[in-house]
Amino acid sequence: LTEKLQNTFKKMRSKGRLTEADVREALREVRLALLEADVNFKVVKEFLTRVEERAVGQDILKSLTPAQSVIRIVNDELTTLMGSTHERVRLASNPPTVIYLVGLQGAGKTTAAAKLARYFKQQGRQPLLVAADVYRPAAVDQLETLGQQIGVPVAHEPGADPVRLAQLGMERSKKLARDIVIIDTAGRLHVDEALMTELARMQEAVPAHETLLVVDAMTGQDAVRVATAFHERLPLTGVILTKLDGDARGGAALSIRQVTGLPIKLVGTGEKLDALEPFNPDRMASRILGMGDIQTLIEKAEQNLDQEDTKELAKKIGRADFTLDDFQAMLNQVKKLGPLSKIMEMMPGMGQLAKVKGQIDDRSVVRVEAILNSMTKKERQRPEIIDGSRRLRIARGSGTSVQEVNRLLKQFEEMRKLMRQMKGKPGKSRLGRMPF
Ligand code: GDP
Ligand code: MG
Repeated sequence: LTEKLQNTFKKMRSKGRLTEADVREALREVRLALLEADVNFKVVKEFLTRVEERAVGQDILKSLTPAQSVIRIVNDELTTLMGSTHERVRLASNPPTVIYLVGLQGAGKTTAAAKLARYFKQQGRQPLLVAADVYRPAAVDQLETLGQQIGVPVAHEPGADPVRLAQLGMERSKKLARDIVIIDTAGRLHVDEALMTELARMQEAVPAHETLLVVDAMTGQDAVRVATAFHERLPLTGVILTKLDGDARGGAALSIRQVTGLPIKLVGTGEKLDALEPFNPDRMASRILGMGDIQTLIEKAEQNLDQEDTKELAKKIGRADFTLDDFQAMLNQVKKLGPLSKIMEMMPGMGQLAKVKGQIDDRSVVRVEAILNSMTKKERQRPEIIDGSRRLRIARGSGTSVQEVNRLLKQFEEMRKLMRQMKGKPGKSRLGRMPF
């Protein structure tokens, strides 16, 4: 999606003024990008109408280049559409807070339940998990295992029905002095009446403070249908969008928000229990448009590295004389942050580089590393000296091809340009982080 989009904007960048035709061409690409990101087509249509109204109006700022103006409007509108601020999970003023996780089978409810419990425990709270999926025999075991891993008790009673289990959760929470009760419910393969009735009965017996719909981002358009169906029957209060670490471009976030009005409160970004993040509309907007996500990268760095390392990393990212040597050092440093493929995805321009058949995998990152290792230090510091014969040597040395070496050099140059431009912008503003 985004390569084309980037090309369009690159073309526009070299022009002085923005014509109506420019806007139309850019918006055509944005439209494709959104559709490819699995955004509902009605949502796309409404959205583009709004953007066009603003773009051809007086909203275009003189101080920005034409491409920046359009991107800024697109980004602003996307962000607004998804809810401008991050909405938290609300806690009851009178504990325990009761949180239901509902959704289809395989959406990630049980995993999200454990992730939430872990998160609250880290905040110094006392969560309790309730295993109320009585239809899949393995479901209770699954939650009990996860509960043990994070040291959170799991309430269950063999043979009890889901309504009884919700009540059991309340009883246990009093007995064990727990202030948050997280109820993991059963799913179905499709939305069905029996499931809805049962969930409604549970909530009659034990009213909810939060009813979070867990949705698999990979299901794209289907996610919107599921969200609508659940929302008709249950007073949902928000959405947890899971599996955003996969191929999904996040279009589901946009559509769900637009169609149901429900806030996306959290996102799941992996199978591990620490892979739960607050939903950030601004970042999601950039992600949908494929512009990289430097801010997430830096925040991750801050969480995982010590302060000194982090400062060094942030400094390097913004530096104009950023070399391949720095890039290599950075790759080594950011390895501490998690799978490299995930980190690469967040760097402007680098997503394309590590992408093989639309997917970033760690193998392709390993190839990038091999290429870097086959260069001399001098070559990494001054990539411009890498001529044809050097490229051949590097390709042979790294067991890759000249094309791959070329691609790395080209993408690196691109990345450096993007970084330089980002650095020139005021630090805090949204545009300041945008690689344009
Ligand atoms: P449930 O049927 O809704 O309870 O779904 P589960 O919690 O059992 O999850 C189904 C599968 O999806 C499991 O293999 C999970 O490990 C996986 N899963 C859940 N959340 C995520 C996520 O955010 N990212 C990835 N990659 N996998 C996830
Ligand atoms: Mg489950």
